[in-house]
Amino acid sequence: MTSAIGVLVAERIAGALVIDHGIAGAVRSFPEHNSVSDALQGMPSEIIVQRIVDVVKPLLEGSKPSAIGLGFPGIIRNGAIEDSPNLVQLKGVHIQNVLREALTPIAAGIPIAIFNDADVVAAGLAATRGHLARLIRVWTLGNGIGFGRYPFQEGIWEGGHLVVTLDPKEHFCGCGGKGHLEGIMGQRAMRLRFMDLEPEEVFEHAKQGDRRCVEFVKLWHRALAAATANCIHLEGSGKFFITGMNSKYLNIALLGDYLHEMVKLTPLQGYSLEIVPGGEEIALIGAAVNGSQSVERS
Ligand SMILES: [Zn+2]
Repeated sequence: MTSAIGVLVAERIAGALVIDHGIAGAVRSFPEHNSVSDALQGMPSEIIVQRIVDVVKPLLEGSKPSAIGLGFPGIIRNGAIEDSPNLVQLKGVHIQNVLREALTPIAAGIPIAIFNDADVVAAGLAATRGHLARLIRVWTLGNGIGFGRYPFQEGIWEGGHLVVTLDPKEHFCGCGGKGHLEGIMGQRAMRLRFMDLEPEEVFEHAKQGDRRCVEFVKLWHRALAAATANCIHLEGSGKFFITGMNSKYLNIALLGDYLHEMVKLTPLQGYSLEIVPGGEEIALIGAAVNGSQSVERS
């Protein structure tokens, strides 16, 4: 029986003890209620670290976890947060060292490992769906576009910013780059493109045959197909999960058709696409799984 603690720092801080790929006991969080969605915005990094310690502390009572794995948004390398557009105060912080020091009084000797938040979602899906022995990738369709990969491999993996069009008018990505996947698919980008319609209405109008919306919905699917095809051409075929609030707009058959046009080499045909629910608990399980696997590797 393996146990580890998984923590996710996103809209809020959440943590849980994970035993054998399932959450044991209650999920601890700050703030406690889901309704406060921007509690961490503008909070100094030292306070965020203190709140993480507060969340982890009760999880250690009566348990002996093999590791603490934590997921953060942004570019994470070697324990440092190199960039984090959603939590700018953490940019440049070597969060692994800072947390190790802060957790020493209550968790001395327990290894700590830091991951990108989309990678922990990928690990959580791998663990809960029996894919721990395979390469899996995950697209998270939300405000931005997340790209997660399991097994964990050090790297940048900013799949949401893959270039999927050469059209210089495609400039809606939050990072400022042109032609990016997120600039087409992200919720924020869709709002900027359709100043007069909410994304929900765009997909609704497309169903009713509105030409501008129909064309956009095709582009939206083509963009994801292109990004997925790029991933397949770099790392091979395999399982692609799609999750997040906007996965409800996805027509998986249409995505498959476009992908079929883009991937032609025979050894790369063995890919599969599946829409799945994600959520905080999946990410917590994944953070714990990645945390304990990093101990096994070291
Ligand atoms: Zn971008």
